[in-house]
Amino acid sequence: MKTRNGLNGDTADCGWRLESSYAGLPDAFSASWNPVPVRLPKLVLLNRSLSNNLGLAFEVECEAKATAIFSGNQLPEGAVPIAQAYAGHQYGGFTMLGDGRAILLGEQRTPSGQLFDIQLKGSGQTPFSRRGDGRAAIGPMLREYIISEAMFALGIPTTRSLAVVTTGEPVYRETVLPGAVLTRIAASHIRVGTFEYFSAREDENGLRTLADYTIARHYPEIDNVPDRYLRFLNAVIDVQASLIARWQLIGFVHGVMNTDNVAISGETIDYGPCAFMDSYDPNTVFSSIDSHGRYAYGNQPKIGQWNLARFAESLLPLLDSDQTKAISKATEAIHSFPEIYQQYWLAGMRRKLGLRTEQQTDTELIESLLSWMHRNQADFTNTFRDLSTESVSADKQYQDGLFRKWYSQWQDRLNRESIPSPEVFAQMQSTNPAVIPRNHLVEEALAEATEHADYSLTEKLLRVISSPFEVSNEDSRYRAAPSPTEHVYRTFCGT
Ligand code: AMP
Ligand code: MG
Repeated sequence: MKTRNGLNGDTADCGWRLESSYAGLPDAFSASWNPVPVRLPKLVLLNRSLSNNLGLAFEVECEAKATAIFSGNQLPEGAVPIAQAYAGHQYGGFTMLGDGRAILLGEQRTPSGQLFDIQLKGSGQTPFSRRGDGRAAIGPMLREYIISEAMFALGIPTTRSLAVVTTGEPVYRETVLPGAVLTRIAASHIRVGTFEYFSAREDENGLRTLADYTIARHYPEIDNVPDRYLRFLNAVIDVQASLIARWQLIGFVHGVMNTDNVAISGETIDYGPCAFMDSYDPNTVFSSIDSHGRYAYGNQPKIGQWNLARFAESLLPLLDSDQTKAISKATEAIHSFPEIYQQYWLAGMRRKLGLRTEQQTDTELIESLLSWMHRNQADFTNTFRDLSTESVSADKQYQDGLFRKWYSQWQDRLNRESIPSPEVFAQMQSTNPAVIPRNHLVEEALAEATEHADYSLTEKLLRVISSPFEVSNEDSRYRAAPSPTEHVYRTFCGT
């Protein structure tokens, strides 16, 4: 048998169809670099349904290969490993960064023709490591796996997680922790910070090459239109407005919305101290280092616009050769963000409340529900889910006078649409999840894995959150809001 690369023998290629378009870009874009091998790799999670989508097969001899590949100890067929260069505004301050603990193996061409980055995270030091050790601890890698897969199941654009391998090596943080490598799948890893990198170097050729590459890869429909770079800016503003609206509608707090963590593809990327909000409060912050609440739930849209303004700034030389004109085009584009965001958010909120038509008073109706939820510390997920079922009439918290008043206004509003209530409920149940990865359950699963190398809670949580809109009896624990003693207020970056 001849394999794809012409080698004789029966070594299965396991379905790898890696391309290396990013590695083929000019030198400034990346550094050629291998993952640093680990001592005792052990495959603890493998996402089989995602492997199938990617055209990868991990049966028989490929099972053993999976451990070697997803630890970085062996390169898959066709890999051209690189560490990508980028920069970023972190908590408002600009820094030159780059993959300090990640390696891009290449881009997998799937059976349906799509292209996905395959990246190892936690795979050792690179030329961009600065003072970091290049490694990752098991807890944060499992958090990324759980939350990214939950986001995928909720229908929110996101990078995904293919595998977690423990390294058998200690990682030194506040305490000594087991090391791990996560394999991340992304439409690409091109960030706002990638554009800032070339802008900071005043490398206009590099900037243009990056913009052209990104347009061809993510926005091919504008590849050949006049004013393509302005169209590109507007397209990215649109996907980010849509993405952040989706976060708000589901109660997701990203936690580190630095510009290096904003993907040009419009996927959610870089799950650090992120979590889902339990009781509704716009000031919700989980990150232990976000002491000023810069990245609080309620700030996310505003920060999204701030990040896009950094993107627009870096694109200025491409927008117009006349700087004044370039600035005015960029400014106009950035000023369109709040309106676009608001439209996505309002459309999403109408879906959450089972409304199909648009009425002027809808914003007020929604705001008054949210302010009731805030005042009563109502659980964000469960309130919307309860509204999607008959159960809202039974629960004690809903006997409150203000709530009853709001409820009858909502019923009046629904009645004006004359859609049979089973249909309204069905629509609402397909948009308001019954389960989210509750932070206290995520923390519990991570602690089991970190302290006892026991992944059963993680696996159970992954099973439950893979169908977030279904209610089954076994998962009542997964639906319940945390009790005051269970509540986890802080998540640690623990990079
Ligand atoms: P993050 O906060 O994960 O988005 O990472 C911000 C920057 O720090 C990126 O350039 C990372 O590659 C880098 N970084 C994070 N953790 C480490 C580490 N343990 N070793 C080296 N670089 C790291
Ligand atoms: Mg990052």
